[in-house]
Amino acid sequence: KSSLYWFRRDLRLEDNHALQQALAAGHPVQCVFIFDTNVLVSLPSSDRRLGFIWHSLLEIRDLLRAAGGDLWCETGEPQAIIPRLAIQLDADTVYANEDYEPYARQRDQGIAAILSAQGKELRQCKDQVIFAKDELLTGGGKPFTVFTPYCNAWLKRLTPYHSQSREVPPLAGRLRAPAGVPAMPNLIELGFTQVEPCLLRPGMSGAAELLADFCQQRIQRYHEQRDYPAVKGVSYLSTHLRFGTVSIRQLVQFACFDGSEGAACWLKELIWREFYQQLLWHFPEVAEHSFKPQYRDLAYPNRQDWLESWQKGLSGYPLIDAAMRQLNQTGYMHNRLRMVAASFLVKDLLIDWRLGERYFAEKLLDFDLASNNGGWQWAASTGCDAQPYFRIFNPVAQSQKFDPAGRFIRRYLPELAQLDDQAIHAPWLAKQLPDGFVLGRDYPTPIVDHAVQRQQALALFGRQ
Ligand code: FAD
Repeated sequence: KSSLYWFRRDLRLEDNHALQQALAAGHPVQCVFIFDTNVLVSLPSSDRRLGFIWHSLLEIRDLLRAAGGDLWCETGEPQAIIPRLAIQLDADTVYANEDYEPYARQRDQGIAAILSAQGKELRQCKDQVIFAKDELLTGGGKPFTVFTPYCNAWLKRLTPYHSQSREVPPLAGRLRAPAGVPAMPNLIELGFTQVEPCLLRPGMSGAAELLADFCQQRIQRYHEQRDYPAVKGVSYLSTHLRFGTVSIRQLVQFACFDGSEGAACWLKELIWREFYQQLLWHFPEVAEHSFKPQYRDLAYPNRQDWLESWQKGLSGYPLIDAAMRQLNQTGYMHNRLRMVAASFLVKDLLIDWRLGERYFAEKLLDFDLASNNGGWQWAASTGCDAQPYFRIFNPVAQSQKFDPAGRFIRRYLPELAQLDDQAIHAPWLAKQLPDGFVLGRDYPTPIVDHAVQRQQALALFGRQ
């Protein structure tokens, strides 16, 4: 007999709830990962996330091998593979951590039903959040749809138990011997022939390095620095949280232990993540529609050429373009810029937020359905606790405020490097541009006039 442990968005061997449970059950444990073809089929062959996942798995595989086991990797449909493996490896129980996305819920329900018909079980544990599903509800027993009361309830409910590590015992002697384990496919075999480089160090070791850097040096100043994209003020841990190479419990422990104003502010951001996760759980329809029904049928003009200019970082608004080029080049975008770039797409270009959401989903290394959808619906004013529709970011004022010396813009728009600190935010307003620099040739003139588009957006949303 053996037990199966199935890795999904929890690519770590430490503080892992379902792995802990699998090892505690007493049978030798076989760790499994499936490259899910239902997911892979829609990804471009350059997708950076595959590189991150693959290298994170390699680290896990080596650690499992060092402990006398191995990682069993297959490519295909989990609904077919997991029940077959349970029979093949004589496992009565398959352990996995809960995943709250609509696709994952459907997949897991299907697998649980097949396993149950075989007299076996899919046992799922809460791992990627502190509070899941119905654990936090309003006094009236309803899901929270406003962040501040959710956050207060979250903080009030938190005890040391909730953030306590789910310690994984030493692996040696507890793993299934590696007989018959299929070799891990490489990226080219998986069809990912041109994976773009991932600047983020993957795996548990990558997460540990970032966390140490953030918690030793920067967390105390997080509240002052987090809004400035040119400053190394944030943690950059989002991709690790997305793939579970770091544990949320460990992050909450750090934030609570630190006790500084910066740490309290950072903890709130972790709570935003959980707010959006519970929202997606209770209202899975937000993945398709605006949360607010009155904004479901807005007649966005959706100009394709404007969408493409935005995607390529050629809108003529330097902060927006620098943000989009950061996304295209690195797979990351700073939170302040996500808010401003999303607002610009919806309120200045009058393009449906779902098209922007889809583009971010394709490009972001840390893409997470709940947070991405939540962030987009917040910026588009269609979400439950969103920015009111009449509050519209001015892309030039945001640039002057959050990148005053244009350091971030210069990093991603080298063609503007010679402009002075005033002109760089709005080159078309500059009295004088550097010799030889021609606006419209070296950098685009703005594709829209913010003041005009603002009125159009107010009219579009105000009609509802
Ligand atoms: P830090 O500032 O160090 O914050 C720590 C962690 O808290 C983050 O790693 C993240 O897990 C969480 N967090 C921080 N801010 C938010 C937030 N506003 N909402 C939810 N969680 C948050 N985050 C994603 O993880 N995946 C996405 O696909 C995503 N898409 C977004 C789209 C838009 C339009 C907007 C406005 C925000 C989006 N965010 C998303 C939230 C946020 O921008 C990123 O989590 C953050 O920029 C990641 O950088 P960091 O790890 O350095 O964050």
